[in-house]
Amino acid sequence: MQTRPLVALLDEARRRETEAILRSCVHCGFCNATCPTYQLLGDERDGPRGRIYLIKQVLEGIPATQITQRHLDRCLTCRACETTCPSGVAYGQLLDTGREIVEQQVGRSLLDFAKRQLLCAILPYRHRFAVFYRFARFFAPIMPHHLRKKFVCTHATKPDRLRPAHARRVLLLDGCVQPTLAPGINHAAIRVLDKLDIGVVLAPTAGCCGALSYHLSAQQDGLDFMRRNIDAWLPYIDQDIQFIVTTASGCGLMVKDYGKLLKHNAAYKEKAEQISAAARDIVEILTAEELTGLKPQTSAKLAFQSPCTLQHGQQLNGRVETLLSRLGFELMSVPDPHLCCGSAGTYSLMQPELSEQLLKNKIRALETGQPDIIVTANIGCQSNLQSATTTPVRHWIEVLSDAVPD
Ligand code: SF4
Ligand code: SF4
Repeated sequence: MQTRPLVALLDEARRRETEAILRSCVHCGFCNATCPTYQLLGDERDGPRGRIYLIKQVLEGIPATQITQRHLDRCLTCRACETTCPSGVAYGQLLDTGREIVEQQVGRSLLDFAKRQLLCAILPYRHRFAVFYRFARFFAPIMPHHLRKKFVCTHATKPDRLRPAHARRVLLLDGCVQPTLAPGINHAAIRVLDKLDIGVVLAPTAGCCGALSYHLSAQQDGLDFMRRNIDAWLPYIDQDIQFIVTTASGCGLMVKDYGKLLKHNAAYKEKAEQISAAARDIVEILTAEELTGLKPQTSAKLAFQSPCTLQHGQQLNGRVETLLSRLGFELMSVPDPHLCCGSAGTYSLMQPELSEQLLKNKIRALETGQPDIIVTANIGCQSNLQSATTTPVRHWIEVLSDAVPD
């Protein structure tokens, strides 16, 4: 894509990087074919190619408008377009830059502003969210059905009979909303890792990965969370621990991106790269193991919903399905597996109509083979999917843990 000189909205290093991304787009439009919002709305500006063009205009000096903001807001940041793009355009990075600049130029309605502030003030803080959650559960009976089901907490018992010591150890990210909504996910991960003689360490001062704030255009808050986690984890990595394991693919992607997002920060650049290099989704850890000690026993039929952050962001497409099949689980085929379920962080709260349509389509696809359980790899997707179906929706590691005898 030809560009005119970008105006001075970014510092020199970011300007050069952004210009290179814009030039790498050859305007072919292949990405529109796999973009969920373009498929729903059919408007060029609601597809990646059109959004790239909108961002280019703003960076060349044409002031952003509410229309620009609306089309960028509607993007799910699912990055399906990056998987499809033959030119390797770093759309996600460009979108972050575009949103940051547009946010500086265009104000928000009072309601939109208040919603964003509230979400940023509650969701990333584990204890605040736990209090909010108890409060919301109290009012759940008078909430609309689709919201009420989002406040259903999954049953969880802490794993017992763990080994007193392990041959290897890993750090595990606890996160922000997951310990309240589905504590069983990390309990299951701890149990399965224990069976493989891998012990788990939780860094007490680590918290939200930063994704929730970062993608709500509160980018400085997001960067603060990232620096806090880096400071919390580094002392452990410097000891005998090699990996930071995540059980929410959205958080895992964010941690893997710390190196890129903090590369212009002299004090954190190298530390952030070290943390990103150590980050692993739980499926990557298990895939590298022999697994002979697990011997799961199950006859349940599963349908796997591959979160966008796992398949497009972390590029781990097919890894969970392969692992579960290797362990003897029966997996149903799911049409259009590349499409987003509409969760996308806080998207289901900020863009409810579009999110609802994507969710309906996703549930229909997942239930095609009449599975007993829908499995996923990200807490946001799990809670979103469960709000629209009576089929149980669980993290795959919980289903695996339940199938592994003591
Ligand atoms: S597929 Fe890639 S190169 Fe083609 S329009 Fe989309 S982003 Fe640009
Ligand atoms: S990130 Fe997803 S919603 Fe956004 S432009 Fe790319 S494919 Fe479309």
